Amino acid sequence: MNFDELRICTRCGSNACYKQEVTKDINIELCYGCGFQSNSVMTKGSDFFNEQFEILPELYKVLMDEEEDTGKIWMPTTVNIKEQGMVFANGVSRDNWCWSAVKSIPVEEDEKEKYKGESFRVDMSTVENFRERDFMDALSYIGVLPK
Ligand SMILES: [Zn+2]
Repeated sequence: MNFDELRICTRCGSNACYKQEVTKDINIELCYGCGFQSNSVMTKGSDFFNEQFEILPELYKVLMDEEEDTGKIWMPTTVNIKEQGMVFANGVSRDNWCWSAVKSIPVEEDEKEKYKGESFRVDMSTVENFRERDFMDALSYIGVLPK
């Protein structure tokens, strides 16, 4: 990751928005300030949007916002790194949610069958909750960002 690419987030105003150009026409923005992401291909009504929308958890649909001027769609990020853990939006409504972070632990030899040969699994007993603006702390908790 190249942090020189960080810019002002048009959603939350923090200066920790990472923009990645995938191709000339496609770019992805991921804000480390608020944990939300947008994708230039994802505009309301597009096939891509409809496909993604269908498989989203209910809370993600509720938290999704369309930027008025640009039509840009912002939605919460899910981070899932097998060896380290997961960070995801967790809650019931726009007013009542948080980032939940869970750490991964190695699967013991005698559990290999239960976890279908995976060498890591998330350990739900490690779950910690973080406020929306503390997304980076949640990433640090699972070791994706330095503390
Ligand atoms: Zn932001």
